[in-house]
Amino acid sequence: MPELPEVETVRKGLAKLLPGRVIKSVDFDWAKSFQAAEADVKEFMVGAEIKHVKRRAKALIIELSTGYSLVIHLKMTGQLVFRSSDERFGAGHPTDSLVGELPDKSTRATIKFSDGGRLFFNDQRKFGWIKLLPTAEVPNIDFMKKAGPEPLSIDFNWKILRDRFMKRKGTNIKAALLDQSVVAGVGNIYADEALWGAKIHPSTLVKSLTARQFHRLYDELAFVLKLAIKKGGSTDRNYVDADGRKGSYLSFARVFRREGRPCPRCGREIVKTKVAGRGTHLCPRRQKP
Ligand SMILES: [Zn+2]
Repeated sequence: MPELPEVETVRKGLAKLLPGRVIKSVDFDWAKSFQAAEADVKEFMVGAEIKHVKRRAKALIIELSTGYSLVIHLKMTGQLVFRSSDERFGAGHPTDSLVGELPDKSTRATIKFSDGGRLFFNDQRKFGWIKLLPTAEVPNIDFMKKAGPEPLSIDFNWKILRDRFMKRKGTNIKAALLDQSVVAGVGNIYADEALWGAKIHPSTLVKSLTARQFHRLYDELAFVLKLAIKKGGSTDRNYVDADGRKGSYLSFARVFRREGRPCPRCGREIVKTKVAGRGTHLCPRRQKP
């Protein structure tokens, strides 16, 4: 599942390509992948110009000139791929569909533009979705209502993070970090990286963390998310962005998928364990339970 930096990378790529383009038609082969009333598609999507490409939590919002928006969640295996005669962009779950001939058997929806460009929504496992709805109603859909605050927004800070976490006092800090209603967009990779940076054991109960630890955790979380966005997300295979670059965060990761290798801070071997039901990487010397 993509985390905030990966979805932000998709957003940045599409924001360079889509605004100003006019939708000519849409095809889809699986109604759950493309949730829209047929009348709305005709009236508010076909002929609409793309105005903005935004992100909230792990969802993308494509705003149209008609006052409607497409909200997209990639879930486990979703991809968005844009092709025109001289532009190529693909991001999301790493498979050959990012670079191969499209549509293919994983293509669930194709949006065609009046200038010949095409946007493909591919999704092998069909958990992802696109919804068409009035832009004003976007904040009211279940997904948006449940999403916690954006960790990189300018009005977010360590005290807000602490207050959000304190609603999950009795749980461990890793489970709280993964809870999308506490803070938006953090998944397994950036939870492990931020906890390592803050020298906090992932199974530490929220209620036993000090103010100083919350402050460090906030700083580390912001650091890893920003670095990952700069590196184009974490996908390490077969991924291209608008400039043809591959996502490279994993080559900068300090603990994630580095079990058995030396901790970059102290040299002790990184271990992999299970916390909150997820594979969890940590340094046994500096992250004591
Ligand atoms: Zn260490």
